[in-house]
Amino acid sequence: MKNVVKIIGAGLAGCEAALFLADHGVKTILYDTKPDHFSPAHKSPNLAELVCSNSLRSAEPTSAVGLLKQEMLMLGSKFMDCALKTKVPAGKALAVNRDAFSLCLTKAIQSHPNIEFKTEEWKKIPDKGIVILATGPLTTPALLDSLSSVTTSEGLHFYDAISPVIETDTIDSANSYWKDRWDDQSKGDYLNCPLTKEEYDLFYDELIKAEQVPLHDFEEPRFFEGCLPIEVMAARGYKTLLFGPMKPVGLWQPGADQKPYAVVQLRKENSEGSALNIVGFQTKLSYPEQKRVLSLIPALKNANFLRFGSIHRNTFVDAPRVLDCFIRLKGRAHLFLAGQISGIEGYVESAATGLLVGFNVLRLLQKKNLVIPPPTTAMGSLITHLTNLETKDFQPSNVNFGLFPKLVERHTKKERKQKYAERAMTDLKRWLELLK
Ligand SMILES: Cc1cc2nc3c(=O)[nH]c(=O)nc-3n(C[C@H](O)[C@H](O)[C@H](O)COP(=O)(O)OP(=O)(O)OC[C@H]3O[C@@H](n4cnc5c(N)ncnc54)[C@H](O)[C@@H]3O)c2cc1C
Repeated sequence: MKNVVKIIGAGLAGCEAALFLADHGVKTILYDTKPDHFSPAHKSPNLAELVCSNSLRSAEPTSAVGLLKQEMLMLGSKFMDCALKTKVPAGKALAVNRDAFSLCLTKAIQSHPNIEFKTEEWKKIPDKGIVILATGPLTTPALLDSLSSVTTSEGLHFYDAISPVIETDTIDSANSYWKDRWDDQSKGDYLNCPLTKEEYDLFYDELIKAEQVPLHDFEEPRFFEGCLPIEVMAARGYKTLLFGPMKPVGLWQPGADQKPYAVVQLRKENSEGSALNIVGFQTKLSYPEQKRVLSLIPALKNANFLRFGSIHRNTFVDAPRVLDCFIRLKGRAHLFLAGQISGIEGYVESAATGLLVGFNVLRLLQKKNLVIPPPTTAMGSLITHLTNLETKDFQPSNVNFGLFPKLVERHTKKERKQKYAERAMTDLKRWLELLK
C-alpha cells in the first residue's frame, strides 16, 4: 500500500486511528498544533491528552461504556491498552494516571516506524488524499471556517445544549400521559408529566438553589436565548419556566378533573421510544443535582437517567445531515471525521470512533467494502446516533443503552444490562468472523 493517510489532530481519536493503521502497515502523518500551540483546554506537550477528568467511566462490562471498552479491546485498541497499563484504583470505574496514559500513547506514536508526527496547524481541509479529521471540540478557528465552507455553516455547531435522557420504562405511567399540545384526538408524540402548584413550587425552590457545574474560563456565560439552561430561566423569575418549557396550556389530560399548573414534556430519543429526552431541559446542574431536582417531578420520581444534561463549548457537525454511515463527509469519500467533532461525546467514544474510522480506512486501502458494526453493539449504537435522520435537533451523545435496539423480551433492569452486553458481544464476534 503506497498511500499515506493524513490524520489531523493527535488527540484521543487521532492517536487511536493512527496506531491502528500503522500497526496494519499503513503509513500515516499525524498533525497537531501541539506542542507549539495549545487550545484553551490543552496543557500537556504529550499527545492524547485527557483535558479534564482522569476517569474513563465504568469498567463494568454490563454498562454501555464498559461494553464499548470490551469491544475496543476486541479490535486491538491502543487507547485501551495504555489505559489498562496506567490505571489507578477507582472502584468500578477505569481511571488512569493521566500523564502516564498520555505518555504511553505518545511513545507508541513516536516510536512507530509507520507514523510521522508533525507539529502544524491545518487551516484548510485538504483537497487530496485520504484524510481523517480529528481536531476535537476545540478545533482551531481557521480550520473551522474551512469546515463550515464544505458543510455549510448550519452543519456546524459550537455549543452542546443537552437535555437529560430518561429510560421510558422507568417513568411512572400513572402520573404521565401521551398528548400533543391542543390535540385531543390522537395519542400524541409527547409524554406529559403534570405538576400541581404545590409540586411546581417545591421543584422551583430546589432548582434555584441547586449546585451548578462551574464554567471553564474559556466558556462565556452567554447562552443562546433559544436554549437557555432551565436554572438560568428559573433565576429570571418564578413564572419564566411556566411560559417556557413547562407551559401547561393545551396539555391538560382529557377527562382529568384538574388542569395541570405546569407540565414537563418528553419526546422520543430513538425510533423505538425506549428512551425519551426532556424537552427544553438543557442544564448545567451537577449530575447528582439533576437527579435530585428532576426526581421531584412526580412522574420522574424513580426515573433512570440514561444521559444527564449539559451545556458546554463544543464543536461538532450536524452528523445525520452531514456525514454518511462510515463517518465520512457526504460527497467527500476520502474525508473521514473521528472523535468529538463527528458528534459523539466522551473520551472513550472519541477513541472508539478513531478506531472505527481506522478500520474502514484500512479496508478502503485494501479495496474492500466499508463496514459498520451491528447496531446491537456499543460501537454500532454510536453510528446509529450519528446517522439517525429522524433527529431534528442533533446533539452529541455518550454511549448509552438508549441508543441500542430494544430487547424483545421484558427483563428486570439488572438483567436488561446483562442481556444487552451478551447480545453485543455475540454479534460483534460473529461480525468479525464474517469479515475475516
Ligand atoms: C474542557 C473539556 C473538558 C472535557 N472533559 C471530559 C471529561 O472529563 N470526560 C470525557 O469523557 N470527555 C470530556 N470532554 C469531551 C471529549 O471527550 C474530549 O474533549 C476528548 O478529548 C475528545 O477527543 P478528540 O480526539 O475528539 O479531541 P482532542 O482530544 O481534543 O484532540 C484534538 C487534537 O486536535 C488538535 N487540533 C485542533 N485543531 C487543530 C488544527 N487546526 N490542526 C492541527 N491540530 C489541531 C488539538 O491540539 C488536539 O490535540 C471534555 C471536553 C472539553 C472541551
